[in-house]
Amino acid sequence: MQTRIADYIPSNSPAFSQRLFDFIGIRHFTFQEVLYHNTLEDIPVPLWFNILPTLWLLDELRSDLNEPVYIVSSYRSPEYNRKVGGKSGSLHLSFNALDCIIKNYSSKEYRLVADLLKSCDLDFFGLKIKDSSLGIGLYPNFFHIDTRGLLGRKSPSFWIEK
Ligand SMILES: [Zn+2]
Repeated sequence: MQTRIADYIPSNSPAFSQRLFDFIGIRHFTFQEVLYHNTLEDIPVPLWFNILPTLWLLDELRSDLNEPVYIVSSYRSPEYNRKVGGKSGSLHLSFNALDCIIKNYSSKEYRLVADLLKSCDLDFFGLKIKDSSLGIGLYPNFFHIDTRGLLGRKSPSFWIEK
């Protein structure tokens, strides 16, 4: 049986999650926003920390933009990924990717978001987050980010879907 982080910490405890995010330094997103439609029990423990560098990057972007950023997809189980037509190697399966929208942004503005992400040079507790580590996908009304290079996946990757 797979070990799950929910076996170790209080399930979906707001106090725990807030303390964790305060500790890491996440300023703009709540635990619930990051889980999106999942509960903690849905996400296998070995994947759990995969999201943190991506979230760190998104938090930085949120500060730079000074606009609310809404997470519209995070972890996907293999079944759910198939259902929504996700790619078989999707970083959502590894809980490393986030899809996000910014209200009233057009594809032109999402391109500027991509440029901003590509200029990143962050240090996440010793892990360097640079454009060479990223996956960035632009869609007509949302964008995708992941930090695939930090998982040892081929990077960078940049794509635009019409
Ligand atoms: Zn995505």
